[in-house]
Amino acid sequence: MRIFRKNNKMTPDQKKKDSCRSYANVYLSRGKLVKEHCQVCGEKKVEMHHEDYNKPLEIKWLCREHHLKIHVEHYNGGKNGKSKKKKIFITVPFFKYLGSIFKNNNSIKLCGV
Ligand SMILES: [Zn+2]
Ligand SMILES: [Zn+2]
Repeated sequence: MRIFRKNNKMTPDQKKKDSCRSYANVYLSRGKLVKEHCQVCGEKKVEMHHEDYNKPLEIKWLCREHHLKIHVEHYNGGKNGKSKKKKIFITVPFFKYLGSIFKNNNSIKLCGV
């Protein structure tokens, strides 16, 4: 979990995510944020997901699987704007495709991980 900074420079977007995540972690450690179970499947092992990095305290709790899914959906829906952000189900083939990305490319970072 301590792979925050590699040698590559962070883009402004990544910086924003990074500070957003730190902010949320501080709140979490102070008990101002409470971990919940995955909103989709109820899994207890969750990660935080931010839909809006300007709102570090607006967190969705998702298990790894559903966290990945929501990110795929975001990337995928990028062309058409943000209209799809509430739907986090995607098709299975696409999820497999995502899995292969993750195997081959460790540089993908998730917010809140
Ligand atoms: Zn889940
Ligand atoms: Zn996320």
